[in-house]
Amino acid sequence: MEKTIKNKDDLRVFFEKNGVSLTRQRLDLGYLLLKEKRHLNTSELIEMVNSSLPYVSRATIFNTINLFLRYGLMQKFDIQSGATIYDTNGTPHHHLYEESTGEIHDVFLEKEMEEKIRAQVKKALPLHLSSKTDMGRVLITLPV
Ligand SMILES: [Zn+2]
Repeated sequence: MEKTIKNKDDLRVFFEKNGVSLTRQRLDLGYLLLKEKRHLNTSELIEMVNSSLPYVSRATIFNTINLFLRYGLMQKFDIQSGATIYDTNGTPHHHLYEESTGEIHDVFLEKEMEEKIRAQVKKALPLHLSSKTDMGRVLITLPV
């Protein structure tokens, strides 16, 4: 499936293909979320939607986001502060989190480099963790 949504027509096709009833709210919200690649915490996300689309309910916001997460159009992860970050870029990538500024940077690694980093991190973990840990995507934290 094409995972890039460039306009509202792409979104319409996405909703139809996945059997989701098409409403103006869903369409406007989906476009607002996916038109730009960004990282937003939960309150930034709600604020962005409320300021642009005040008629969209919180339930619609999270139902739509969950749909996008399920289909890989968005991703989410937690940072050390406990905040959940929603990423409107569904393309697989890693993140670098700067504790001093709170900034989150996308990191796209070549496969070889990715495998080296995974191996290094696994080596550094205690044995009971390294044998069980499925690292998924890595969030590297840059300390203050
Ligand atoms: Zn990202």
